Amino acid sequence: MAMAYPLNGSTREFLARRLDLFVDGRMQRATDDGRLEVSDPASGERLTDIALGSARDIDAAVDAARRALRGPWGRMTADERTRALLDYARLIESNATLFTEIAVLDNGMPWPIAQSTAPFCAMFLRYYAGWVSKIAGETLPSAGNGKRPNELLAYTLREPVGVVGAITPWNYPFGMEMLKIAPVLATGCTVVLKPAEQAPLASLLLAELAAQAGVPAGVLNVVTGLGETAGAALAAHPGVDKVAFTGSTEVGRSIVQAAAGNLKRVSLELGGKSPVVIFPDADLNQAIPGAAMAAFLLQGQNCVCGSRVFVHESIAAAVGEGIAALARQLKIGSGFDPSVMIGPVISREQRDRIEALLATAKPEGAKLLAGGGRGTGNGWFVEPTVYANCLPEMTIVREEIFGPVIAMQTFNDGDLESIAAQANDTVYGLSGSVWTRDLATAHRMVRMIDAGQVGVNCHAAMDPSMPFGGNKQSGWGREFGREGLDLYLKTKAVTITW
Ligand code: NAD
Repeated sequence: MAMAYPLNGSTREFLARRLDLFVDGRMQRATDDGRLEVSDPASGERLTDIALGSARDIDAAVDAARRALRGPWGRMTADERTRALLDYARLIESNATLFTEIAVLDNGMPWPIAQSTAPFCAMFLRYYAGWVSKIAGETLPSAGNGKRPNELLAYTLREPVGVVGAITPWNYPFGMEMLKIAPVLATGCTVVLKPAEQAPLASLLLAELAAQAGVPAGVLNVVTGLGETAGAALAAHPGVDKVAFTGSTEVGRSIVQAAAGNLKRVSLELGGKSPVVIFPDADLNQAIPGAAMAAFLLQGQNCVCGSRVFVHESIAAAVGEGIAALARQLKIGSGFDPSVMIGPVISREQRDRIEALLATAKPEGAKLLAGGGRGTGNGWFVEPTVYANCLPEMTIVREEIFGPVIAMQTFNDGDLESIAAQANDTVYGLSGSVWTRDLATAHRMVRMIDAGQVGVNCHAAMDPSMPFGGNKQSGWGREFGREGLDLYLKTKAVTITW
């Protein structure tokens, strides 16, 4: 591996090691010998390789997770579990450089975003550490069985759902895994995690650090491998009580079918095609860069990507030119260059898929304002791209591109209902934003946009306390916040008489 940037010693050491599956508290060889190359998307060069876990490896990991539920983990007090989460958070923070470099290499993230991975994980763990001691049932005023209140006690217990199967995508490694790991640990569940094969390194690092921080063996297991083998086996496994999936809507559908065998619980964080609606009274100094970064952040490989921009026709030319000018200015290249804002997309397949979608734009009548080509270098680069004159039926308006692409449409002075209907004209419902100075417009649009999250004069603000998830085909359930705990808890109703 010829690396133009001097890597930290801990990163070099991590990449030089043989990486296997992390099961029952230690690295273990997979049952099959097959390995999968992991490459740097900015150069296409090999970084390392990973084990290809099989259905038998999933069996072993689920067994380890089941045993761990019955072991010391299951008997921990809330205070002990809180400390475990806080120790884990501290250990992650002390490995911040390693996290940053692995995120750049594994995923291609620009440096400033990669730098957010360790603080994001630590913040999430601390947030959920605070919840551990507040997970509680209720005492209920039941007078069941013909008993008087002083002859009966009725209450609920909140118990861990058990063994969780977590399946994650490649677009924000460390973060995507931690969204599952932190509430799993807080609720006292155990987990078998199958990370995306395109960016699997973060999950192995997270599992090793959890063990170092004192999380008992078997609580956090990682089986690397392919979706259609290891992932499918995990989703269908009869020993898994709940599957937490983040990824494409298409695979989400197959997860639901696989989960039907033992009717395991399912939560899904899926795709999006989020609207950004800019009214003529908006502060364009805020709205133009806001709309650009809503779409271009992480090269548009972002489930909340603001890929459909709706602009009032009176400001369409100014907004289009403003976003296009910004798109031309954003530096493209390796995430190790701190001035780079647009890194590579994850793989050659993804670059080719984005280009195939872009090829439909001109024949279908869209007007290119910026981008459309590849950046320079050997990696998988796509220029930030802006199209105007888009119509609802165009391919680039309907399909989730998962690349740095904006499709602009206009609206006129019609009522807000019809503007909201334009914004809602998609099978997805993950995120959206409204840009206006008018409070009434903002409040009315917030209620009418059919999405799990709406921003006013900001797009996709994230905080551990804010529930996050999708409507329609963007998913089931909410991660983050108190609702994120509910995904991993079940309620038991208890009645005691005497
Ligand atoms: P993907 O659906 O291809 O893969 C996601 C994960 O599922 C990977 O680990 C993969 O190996 C696994 N998988 C694939 N086939 C499987 C199968 N048959 N059974 C079980 N597991 C299987 O998605 P991706 O390309 O990694 O990520 C991009 C998608 O993820 C986009 O659609 C994006 O919108 C979505 N996403 C959503 C959110 C959210 O929070 N809503 C966040 C990030 C990404």
